[in-house]
Amino acid sequence: MVKTGRFLSMSKPRPLSLRFLPEQFCRSLEILFTDIDDTITQDSLLTAPAYASLWKLYEHGIQVAVVTGRPAGWCDHIARMWPVRGVIGENGAFYFSYRRDKNRMERCYLISEEERLEGRKKLEKIRERVLRDVPACKIAADQAFRITDLAIDYCEDVKPLKPSEIARICRIIENEGAVYKISNIHINCWYGNFDKVSGIKEFIKNELDLQLSEIPDQVVFIGDSPNDEPMFKELKHCIAVANIAPYLKQLKSLPMYLTKSRAACGFSEAVDIILKKRKH
Ligand SMILES: [Mg+2]
Repeated sequence: MVKTGRFLSMSKPRPLSLRFLPEQFCRSLEILFTDIDDTITQDSLLTAPAYASLWKLYEHGIQVAVVTGRPAGWCDHIARMWPVRGVIGENGAFYFSYRRDKNRMERCYLISEEERLEGRKKLEKIRERVLRDVPACKIAADQAFRITDLAIDYCEDVKPLKPSEIARICRIIENEGAVYKISNIHINCWYGNFDKVSGIKEFIKNELDLQLSEIPDQVVFIGDSPNDEPMFKELKHCIAVANIAPYLKQLKSLPMYLTKSRAACGFSEAVDIILKKRKH
């Protein structure tokens, strides 16, 4: 049997090649959500072609919203200066959207100011315990620019921690009743009922005055890793860049499409195909 498509495999369906992306969908696409790290960056740099792809989307009237675990300080800059409609940051704790017509930044949080203050106090305890019990880790260098979460560096500016050390950090966080997500460089933890999917839904509700369920065919997400799986599960149209390949077996919810190229090159590949099919 020749396995060429998502639904021909006898085991778990596989993501489709981008050539199967329907032209009708490309024409109706209104908003593109994208991850940052290893999706529009390559070797930790935002590449010129990937940034140019963001501009191409802007010029073709497709709105872009970035979805990331990166800190509020970064998000403030991105929302203000990049050709994007908004940024969902700190794993969905908030979104920032800069209104160019009014010269005003909109900041919408998914938890109240009291909850944020209370959460920060409780995260201090996790910080102390983690640094005491797992001395090989560090608090992430970008922690000063965060509002709602604590980012523990296990692989960015420190020698990669052993799996047992990562597990120890996760147990401490659980023990303190916080939520955590492991990215490719940090363990992010927080208090509050939000995630990237709820951030996307809030963004669509407030910024577009719609529900995600009303516009499944006008939205796409592009990501690269297991921490993007909630979007693969929730959004009808998702694309992963090729560097996700080693993780596909462990995912329960797969992206619908897969690029040929890795990371930033894969992002540009997807944008070019979407824009080309949009013309047909
Ligand atoms: Mg990523």
